[in-house]
Amino acid sequence: MKSHTEHLYFHTKSKQEFINITHQVEESVKKSGVKEGLCLVNAMHITASVFINDDESGLHQDFSTWLEKLAPYGKDKYKHNLSGEDNGDSHLKRTVMGREVVVAITGGGLDFGPWEQIFYGEFDGQRKKRVLIKIIGE
Ligand code: ZN
Repeated sequence: MKSHTEHLYFHTKSKQEFINITHQVEESVKKSGVKEGLCLVNAMHITASVFINDDESGLHQDFSTWLEKLAPYGKDKYKHNLSGEDNGDSHLKRTVMGREVVVAITGGGLDFGPWEQIFYGEFDGQRKKRVLIKIIGE
């Protein structure tokens, strides 16, 4: 069995951002030489997500609006922030959008459904963050 590990690094300009990382993950699969297997992609931070959806800007605005309704930013709104942090909302947003994705590798490529793309979701940015890619297979 082959295995391949890689990290992607992010330092977003804004607190919240969605970044399409499909191309980087595809490059990683190519580098791994795996033709049949699995590709795990996960955020290494508890205020960031990796998720799969459509690369459509209206939808991304809808995600932001929806998340802000569920967990609005606010220093005084969360018990977590009593510890001196201000990112209670970011932890909740990350939990809703998910920690990781697993994509099948078939014929040496990511085996997506129609319109599926992989995104990094940042909810407490403006600092260095990391995503893990782990590929296993033959
Ligand atoms: Zn926190």
